[in-house]
Amino acid sequence: LRRFDDFLIPESQDAAPVEVTQEGSEAGHGSADRLQLLICTSNATLLHTEPEKLLSEIFALLSAYCGLEVCFSYWVNGNRLKLAYSTGVDRETMRRLEWLDYGQAVCGTVALRHQRIVAENIQDSSDSLTELVRSLGIQAYVCHPLIARGRFLGTLSYGTRQRPMFSDEEVSVMQAVSDQVALAIDRMLMIRDLERQNRELRQANRDLEQFAYSAAHDLKEPLRNIAICSELIARKSGPLLDSPSREYLMQLIQNARRMDSLVDDLLAFTQAGNADTRSSLEKTDAAEVLKSVLASFSSTITELGAQITFSSLPSEVPIHRIHLEQIFQNLISNALKYRSNQPPRIHIAAQTLGEDWLFSVADNGIGIPPEYQERIFGIFKRLHTADQYPGTGIGLAICKRIVERYHGRIWVESTPGNGATFHFTVPI
Ligand code: ADP
Repeated sequence: LRRFDDFLIPESQDAAPVEVTQEGSEAGHGSADRLQLLICTSNATLLHTEPEKLLSEIFALLSAYCGLEVCFSYWVNGNRLKLAYSTGVDRETMRRLEWLDYGQAVCGTVALRHQRIVAENIQDSSDSLTELVRSLGIQAYVCHPLIARGRFLGTLSYGTRQRPMFSDEEVSVMQAVSDQVALAIDRMLMIRDLERQNRELRQANRDLEQFAYSAAHDLKEPLRNIAICSELIARKSGPLLDSPSREYLMQLIQNARRMDSLVDDLLAFTQAGNADTRSSLEKTDAAEVLKSVLASFSSTITELGAQITFSSLPSEVPIHRIHLEQIFQNLISNALKYRSNQPPRIHIAAQTLGEDWLFSVADNGIGIPPEYQERIFGIFKRLHTADQYPGTGIGLAICKRIVERYHGRIWVESTPGNGATFHFTVPI
């Protein structure tokens, strides 16, 4: 064993500095070769997303540079080290060396000390530390700790059976490459972790949706029975009941009806935006959708003397028709419902905003106090009782859910008493 380097754990995230101006070393590598190697390894760290492919390419580049036959990379796995990549040994050896304990052999010792070990003249030594690599016929061996952002990830080691030692320059190049690899592996692990979390979150979301759907669905049947039975009692025995009992019965019927519409809305919410939004090849004509929504409100519009206008709307919006319909339906119904004592005036407009279509629905209604302008998009969030304004508080939650499925945003601007303008975006 020639030396134990005092290699300190780097605090910075940067790879070790590379001295490109240094003259060729004792092994005869020019600075241009070295620079070329480091450019190639750095490209490889940026290109690859699979650790195995990265380590294999790095090994190929390094062995073309300084002649190597063996590579091992162990990664932290629980409280042990697991072989993540190896080359230059047979399958049986790979299987035998799949796991290492901290402190075991050269790699295990590097893992314990977080310090590089350079072992040379191995075949002439009887050091127990190098017993394992000696048994593989290796003469010179360097093992680096892989450390990124102060975290120990594993080890990366290179060995040769052809010569008893590496030049200082080769060792420092291997160090620089290992530092690059550590950063790349850290990034890959982070991505892998994020992808896993993402998958879990999506699954949890699906489970929750399924639960809400089943719960709402199962509630409908008994609820319908309560409504039917109480309406039957009211019809058959209503005249026989005293006035307080009749009043209770009416409340029972009203509450059953309200609960029924809450459950319907809950079902609509769980289904909102469920269609595949990524393959939304469908291009929807916004003006056409708006006209059909307005037609469904025609009697209310006439009754209230409402004035509804719209400026030119895009004819090819990448959104499913049913979704745009649901959004317009909810926003216009609210604009009509939350009117002031003036006849409603509603204006619908659209314009491009960067990469998005920005739609707006403006009214001259009662408006919304600033402190509630975010909260109203929550499920069942209302600012009024059902006596003041009918509703279940789910319309805006449905709009938000749909818009977000398309990676858009929805928000409101309002001065209380002076109307409200709802904005939403749909990516172009
Ligand atoms: P709902 O109308 O059934 O209560 P929504 O989710 O559509 O449910 O709306 C949530 C709340 O936001 C409403 O109860 C109301 O207080 C407020 N709101 C929605 N639209 C308007 C509007 N155009 N003007 C004033 N308040 C509004």
